[in-house]
Amino acid sequence: MFASLQDNLRTALKSLRGKGKLTDANMRDGLRMVEEAMIEADVAYPVVQDFMARVSEEAMGQKVLKSLNPDQQLVGVVHEQLIQLLGPVDPSLHLEKDVTVLMMCGLQGAGKTTTCGKLARLIGTEGKKALLVAADLQRPAAVQQLHVVGESVGAKVYSEENASDPIAVCQNAVKFARENGINVVILDTAGRLAIDEELMEQLKTIDRKIGPDQCFLVVDGMTGQDAVNSAKAFNDALELDGVIMTKLDGDARGGALLSVKHVTGVPIKFIGISEHMDGLEPFYADRMAGRILG
Ligand code: GDP
Repeated sequence: MFASLQDNLRTALKSLRGKGKLTDANMRDGLRMVEEAMIEADVAYPVVQDFMARVSEEAMGQKVLKSLNPDQQLVGVVHEQLIQLLGPVDPSLHLEKDVTVLMMCGLQGAGKTTTCGKLARLIGTEGKKALLVAADLQRPAAVQQLHVVGESVGAKVYSEENASDPIAVCQNAVKFARENGINVVILDTAGRLAIDEELMEQLKTIDRKIGPDQCFLVVDGMTGQDAVNSAKAFNDALELDGVIMTKLDGDARGGALLSVKHVTGVPIKFIGISEHMDGLEPFYADRMAGRILG
């Protein structure tokens, strides 16, 4: 995951190692390399600036230069600031109600349908029953795909033949869940290749009429800055409760993961780490910071 970000950050911090006492100058060099590593990872520039200002301030404030192990202390400062940048997070799905409704949205290809299946599987492992709802009526293949996914994780799929109104499908599905002892309803809404007005209006109407307990955006972590931009646009329309970032097993550079919370204020809830149904991890800022710094 993020091989180049990890490598570059480690190299930057390693460059300070074994220098005995650090000087002001070589610490500045080290910090500049940290900054370059973040820019190269496609972290949004204002985020890089803010991050570096905090790291520098902390490093100076803690008198890193005068400490016994200045390099280790600087690693500690970067680690702590990465946690601040990525968090706070709460990976719980809050499934306390009799029927909890989760609304999933995202651009086409982001991994929304796959993630619906992964969540249904996860919910199943917690001893609860999930219902996957085919509310993406844009593409007939999407309904079929959801059935395949549902079958592979042993979750029921709610779909209506020849349906044309996704709002009615969602309403009927919630009713079905209440009548059939299902605990969690997962709405797989329509995606588009790019953000458009019609899509946003449809999603806003579902949000208003169904009143989901939580609304999650699925974004493709490989798309870097675009992932952050789409998170901004969806959050403006829907007030998201969380982001699920997929495809972090690929050669994602890491920028989107590092920028999204800072830019949108929306926490990352889960990350997708494979195309298989068990490839979903709850997101913990401290673990991720540790993974990045190695
Ligand atoms: P949707 O259009 O948003 O519903 O996207 P899909 O769920 O159909 O996913 C698009 C493609 O991304 C499929 O080939 C999935 O197998 C793949 N995919 C989804 N999530 C992940 C992930 O976390 N890692 C990898 N490697 N592939 C993923």
